[in-house]
Amino acid sequence: MKAFTYERPSHVAQAAQATASRPDAAFIGGGTNLLDLMKLDVEQPGHLVDVNRLPLDMIEVLPGDGLRIGALVRNAALAADPHVRRHYAVLSRALLSGATGQLRNKATTAGNLLQRTRCYYFTDIAKACNKRAPGSGCDAIGGYNRIHAILGASASCIATHPSDMAVAMLLLDAVVETDRRRIPVSELHRLPGHTPQIETSLQPGELIVAVRLPSPLAGRHLYRKVRDRASYAFAAVSVAAVVEMRHGRIAQARLAFGGVAHRPWRDREAERLLAGEAPSRAVFERAADQVLTGAVGQGGNDYKIPLLRRTLVATLRQATEG
Ligand code: SF4
Repeated sequence: MKAFTYERPSHVAQAAQATASRPDAAFIGGGTNLLDLMKLDVEQPGHLVDVNRLPLDMIEVLPGDGLRIGALVRNAALAADPHVRRHYAVLSRALLSGATGQLRNKATTAGNLLQRTRCYYFTDIAKACNKRAPGSGCDAIGGYNRIHAILGASASCIATHPSDMAVAMLLLDAVVETDRRRIPVSELHRLPGHTPQIETSLQPGELIVAVRLPSPLAGRHLYRKVRDRASYAFAAVSVAAVVEMRHGRIAQARLAFGGVAHRPWRDREAERLLAGEAPSRAVFERAADQVLTGAVGQGGNDYKIPLLRRTLVATLRQATEG
C-alpha cells in the first residue's frame, strides 16, 4: 500500500479546504470500500481526510414532511430508523438487503452512494481496465462478465454500480446536498461513455453533506434482490418498486433497478405505461419490454435479461395483489 498522510477536521469548511489544497486527497468515512481498494493499490490517495468528526450524522424530518439524512448516518441506523421504516420502507428494505450487519454498522450514506464497482478486472491491477487506468482497455468485454451491465454500457466499460441503497434513493427522487450545491440523485451517477473513470457529477473535492428525500410515497414499498446467495452478495438484478392501487387499478408506480447498469437505473416510460392499468400479466410484460429496450448481453451476463423481466413481473404481481 502506498504511504499516505492523514487528518481529521472538525468542520465542513476545514475538510473542503484540506482537499482543495491536495489534489491527491480523498475523503474517508466508513472506509468499507476505500480501504479495501487501497490495500489492492487500486486507489492510491496521498492524503486521507477523515470526515467522521463532522456533525453530519443526524436524520431530520423536514417541514413539509421530507427527510434530511446526514452524510455520516450509518446504513444500519438509517434502515432501523422508525420514520424511515414507516414512510420510506423501500429504502429500509434496500439497505437491509445490502452487505452484512457489520458492514452496515460502519458504512455511511454518502459512502454507499459513492462506492465503486465490484468488476473483477477493476480490482486486479494486472488486468486492463479503462476505469482504473484510462485508455488501457477493458478485459471484461470478451472476458468473464457474469456480473456486468446489460443496459447503458459502452465500448469502454460494462461495469455495474453495486449499491442497493442508491436504487431506492433514485426511485424516491432523492437530492444530494454537497458543501456547495444540490444534485438530484438521478444526475449524480453517470453512464460510462468514453470516460468510465468519471463516475459522478461531483467536482474534485466536493463533499456530500446530506441526502434529502421528498415527502413519502403512498403505496406498497418493495425491494426484490436476486443474488447468488441469501446474504452478503451484490445484486445480479434488483427491482425497487412503490405501487399505489386505487379501485383495482394502478394509480401510480415507481420503479428502479440495480445490478444492470453503470448507475442505478430508472425507466419513467415504463412507469407511465403502468399508470391507470388494471394489473395483469400482459401489462407487467409490457412494462418489462420497455425497461429492456436496448438491453444487450455480453455473453456471461445474458441471463440477466430474462432474469430482470421475471423479477420485475414478480415484483409487480406482489405489489398489486391483495
Ligand atoms: Fe474496467 Fe469497466 Fe472494463 Fe470492468 S467493465 S474492466 S471496470 S473498464
